[in-house]
Amino acid sequence: MVAEIIDGFAIAAELRRDIAARAAEMKEAYGVVPGLAVVLVGDDPASAVYVRNKLKATAECGLRSVEHVLPANTSEADLLDLVGKLNADPSVHGILVQLPLPKQIDADKVLGLIDPDKDVDGFHPVNAGRLSIGLPGFVPCTPRGSQILIDRVLPNLAGKHAVVIGRSNIVGKPMAQLLLQKNATVTIAHSKTADLPGLCRTADVLVAAVGRPLMVKGDWVKPGAVVIDVGINRIEVDGKGKLVGDVDFASVAEVAGHITPVPKGVGPMTIACLMLNTLDSAARRIAAES
Ligand code: NDP
Repeated sequence: MVAEIIDGFAIAAELRRDIAARAAEMKEAYGVVPGLAVVLVGDDPASAVYVRNKLKATAECGLRSVEHVLPANTSEADLLDLVGKLNADPSVHGILVQLPLPKQIDADKVLGLIDPDKDVDGFHPVNAGRLSIGLPGFVPCTPRGSQILIDRVLPNLAGKHAVVIGRSNIVGKPMAQLLLQKNATVTIAHSKTADLPGLCRTADVLVAAVGRPLMVKGDWVKPGAVVIDVGINRIEVDGKGKLVGDVDFASVAEVAGHITPVPKGVGPMTIACLMLNTLDSAARRIAAES
């Protein structure tokens, strides 16, 4: 193997320790404990695992979390009512509504009601707009975490070409915005892009956020490139479930300079950045009120 592994697991643990230290200072200086409200609607098992991991990280970082678990048949009106109450609650600095929501609920409507100043997921149109025009706001956690990993191994992106595969509002587009802010020359690829392998071979930084197991192969990658694998896909190997990314790790690690593994790459950074956004939210409120 040629590539050096970017250890997202260890870097996220370091970040959580730093957040815990800053949260303790905040409590000491201002008597404020950043609070995260997590709303889970229904009984999707994957969502329950994600929420559990987020709550665990909150406790580890010395932040406060409040979990609201609602039944799968919750009406849109009831969920909107809860979000309204959380918006008005001064002890809540961040609101996270776990997706997906049951089909009777319009997710855009719910996410659009979250106070942009408590939108720690960074999905509100106001925060998407702030990111695109370079104003401070909340950046979605997965791209924020991925950018921290890239900064570790390639801090200066001026003159570099970054290719982001995927144009979702929660990963691909904000990732491209962050890379652009860092002075990379950015190309966003998607399912209608021609000659994707050829395009990827021109990338100094390649971010795969697609949802297609092992799609990016070694011969798609420029020697020495930084490869960030956002994908989380469950596949069957010898009758057993296995988590893999969008990148074929075995062949790409023979060519790339740096690569994130799956699991223990981008995933832990996403959760750490949720904590970071919640801490930032509390810090901004303190600054605004003082
Ligand atoms: P979406 O399904 O919203 O977006 C996928 C994107 O990939 C779309 O833009 C789509 O193009 C593009 N795409 C699909 N097929 C191809 C193809 N054959 N060639 C090129 N582009 C293609 O997914 P998300 O952005 O939400 O998530 C992407 C992956 O990241 C998933 O595996 C998800 O599980 C994972 N994820 C991981 C997180 C983490 O913490 N590590 C957090 C969030 C997501 P088009 O727009 O044309 O349809």
